[in-house]
Amino acid sequence: MLTTRLPGRVEPYKLAARAEHMEGLMALDAFTRLTEAVGPQQGDVEVWLDFTIDPQRRHEIHGRLRATLQLPCRRCLRPMAQEVESEFLLGMVSNDALAAELPSTHEPVLVEDEQLNLLTMVEDELILSLPQAVYHDEADCAVSRDQLTSGEDVAASREPAASPFDVLRHLKGKKH
Ligand SMILES: [Zn+2]
Repeated sequence: MLTTRLPGRVEPYKLAARAEHMEGLMALDAFTRLTEAVGPQQGDVEVWLDFTIDPQRRHEIHGRLRATLQLPCRRCLRPMAQEVESEFLLGMVSNDALAAELPSTHEPVLVEDEQLNLLTMVEDELILSLPQAVYHDEADCAVSRDQLTSGEDVAASREPAASPFDVLRHLKGKKH
């Protein structure tokens, strides 16, 4: 169980030169692009990072992250808890030309003035880890089986329910 908080910025070349390991938490509500994409989030993402220099002198970050996100169900658009987890291998670059030289095994990560914005980097990886679509189990979903078989494109045409009664019914339904 991680308890420490990761800083928003680090000096990744120094960390790589010392082969440093970092691990810790970042608050999910700090990720504004993620919130815009899938709605408000609570809790933390757990992050593990190893900074290294490979035999080709590439400065790398081997990383892993894990979080429980609230993602909108594709059928009813109400949020549902979904665990996401991903591993990534990043190559530090200072410009686009260097990014193009990286092998396909590495994703480029931009380092400017020796500084890496860890918040942006972790948010990028979280967004990449999002599943294509999530659905409640049919018994828990606000959209009934009847509506599904009518052939209507429910997710595209339906607005999220605003009625507090609907919200309550949904909460009760989730306890089963
Ligand atoms: Zn649903």
